[in-house]
Amino acid sequence: MDKYNRRKFLLQARNLTYAGATSWLCGCGGAFSKASIANQSLNSSEDKQQIIVIGAGIAGITAAKKLHALGYQVIVLEGRDRIGGRIWTDNSLGTPLDLGAAWIQKVNGNPISALVKQFGIKTVTSDYDSQWNYQGVNQQLGESEERLVNRAFQVFMDRVTKLQNETSSRQITLADIEKEIIQSENLSGVVLNGFRARLSSTIESEMGDGLAHLGIKGFNEDSEFTGGNVVFPKGYTQLVQALSKDLDIRTKHLVQKITYDDNGVQVTTDRETFKGIQAIVTVPLGVLKHGSIQFVPALPESKLLAIDQLGMGALNKLVLKFPKQFWPSEPHYMAYINGDRNIADRYIDFWNWQKYVQQPILVALVSGDFSRSLSQMPESEAKQNIMTDLQAMFGKDIPSPTATLLTKWHTDPFTYGSYSTFSLNGGLQDCDRLAEPIGDRLFFAGEATYGKYLGSVHGAYLSGEREANRIAKLDQ
Ligand SMILES: Cc1cc2nc3c(=O)[nH]c(=O)nc-3n(C[C@H](O)[C@H](O)[C@H](O)COP(=O)(O)OP(=O)(O)OC[C@H]3O[C@@H](n4cnc5c(N)ncnc54)[C@H](O)[C@@H]3O)c2cc1C
Repeated sequence: MDKYNRRKFLLQARNLTYAGATSWLCGCGGAFSKASIANQSLNSSEDKQQIIVIGAGIAGITAAKKLHALGYQVIVLEGRDRIGGRIWTDNSLGTPLDLGAAWIQKVNGNPISALVKQFGIKTVTSDYDSQWNYQGVNQQLGESEERLVNRAFQVFMDRVTKLQNETSSRQITLADIEKEIIQSENLSGVVLNGFRARLSSTIESEMGDGLAHLGIKGFNEDSEFTGGNVVFPKGYTQLVQALSKDLDIRTKHLVQKITYDDNGVQVTTDRETFKGIQAIVTVPLGVLKHGSIQFVPALPESKLLAIDQLGMGALNKLVLKFPKQFWPSEPHYMAYINGDRNIADRYIDFWNWQKYVQQPILVALVSGDFSRSLSQMPESEAKQNIMTDLQAMFGKDIPSPTATLLTKWHTDPFTYGSYSTFSLNGGLQDCDRLAEPIGDRLFFAGEATYGKYLGSVHGAYLSGEREANRIAKLDQ
C-alpha cells in the first residue's frame, strides 16, 4: 500500500471507529452493523467532522492546517467574530496596527520567519537596542548614569542566577531582589529611576507583569532564538489569514462544555453541539483559569495544578495617533525614567511606530498592575496619564492625539490576560502538564503549553504542530 492509500485506509478505519463511538454520546449503545453506523453518522452533518479544534488563534489554525493537509476532517470552533486570537490587526485608524502580537522575536531559526518568507509577507527591522531614556524635557540619561544603571542591572541578574541554584530561596520574588540591589548598590536619584526603568523595560514589559508577581524560580527558564526582531507594516493578521486558507472555521461559536470519554468528544457551543473523535483545546490559560469551559469529566488534578501555578500577564497597548510627529526619528522606542512611581508598576515604553508605518503614531506599552489600573480609568483619564510622560520628555506644548486605541486584554473574556508567565511558583513542568493529552481524546495546544517559548507566537505555532503530529502518530 503506498503512503497515500495507507492514509486513506487509516482514515476510513477511523471513520468507522468514530461512528461506533458516537453511540455513547447519543445514548444508542450496542453493536452496530456497518450500514447502521453509516446512517447514524449521517444523521447530522456535524457528525462527519472528525477532529474538533477549539480556538482559531495561531495554535488552533496551525494544528488544523497540518491535520487537514494529512487528510483528516477538521472543524475549528472560534468564539470571537474573527480569527487570529491574540494576533489582531486593527485598521480603524487608517493604518494596520497590531493590538496583540507585533514582533517576530529573534528571527534566526524562528519558524514564523520561514512562514513569512513562504507567504511573501513584508516585515521591517525593529531594533530592541535602540532605546532613548529621558530624565527631563529633551534631556536624556547621561553616559555615566547609563553605566551605573547597567552595572546595577548586571548585579541584579547575577543575584537572581545565584539564588536560583539555592532551592531554599525559591519563593523569593523579583521585587525582593530589586529592593536588595537598591540597598546594596546604594542607588538613588536618577540612577535609581534608571535602574527601575531598566527592570520594567527588560523584564516587566517582556513578561507583561510586575516584579512582585514574578518569582525567581521560573525566571529565564524559557529560551529564545537568535538574531534581530521584525514587525509587520501591514499587520500580523496576514499570517493567520494565509495559514487558515481552505480550513472550516466557524466563528461566533462560543464553546461552553466539552464532554469526553474513551470513545469520543462532544463540544457544546452557544449555537449547536459538535461530535468528534478527538478535540484539541487551544483556548488561552486565562480562559482555563476562569473556568469558562466546563469539562466533563473534570480535568485531572495535575492539569488543574498547572493551570493554577502558571500566571497570566497583563501587557496592554495604547496607540496614539498625532496630527504630526514631535519626537525624534532615530530611536525605535523611548521612555521617561522619572515618571510617577506611586502607582504600582507604572512604566511606559513608547514605540516609535512612525518608523514602521510612516504615520505620526506612537504605541505605548504598559504592563502589570499599572496596565490593570489604566483600564479601570475612563479612557480620557488613561490617555492623560500616559500623555504626562510624553510632556515630561518633549514639553507641555506637544499636540494632543487625534485618535487613540486602548487594549484591555486582561478583561477580555476570550483570553483574560496577555500571555502566560511562570508567575511565582510555576515552571516548565507546569507547561508540560498542561500539554499532556487526556487519553487519545483530548489534546492541548496554545502558548501556555509550550514552556520553552512561553508567551510567544512561535511557541503557540509549535504547540499546534506538536498536537497535530501527536494525533497523526496514533494512526501510524
Ligand atoms: C498585547 C500583546 C502583545 C504580544 N506581543 C507579542 C509579540 O510581539 N511577539 C510574540 O511572539 N508574541 C506576542 N504576544 C503573545 C502572542 O500573541 C500569543 O502567545 C499567541 O498569539 C497565542 O496564540 P494561541 O493560539 O496560543 O492563543 P490565542 O491567539 O489566544 O487563540 C486562542 C483562541 O481561542 C478562542 N477562544 C477562547 N475561549 C473560547 C471559547 N470558550 N470558545 C471558542 N473559542 C474560544 C480565542 O478567541 C482565540 O481566538 C503578545 C500578546 C499580547 C496580548
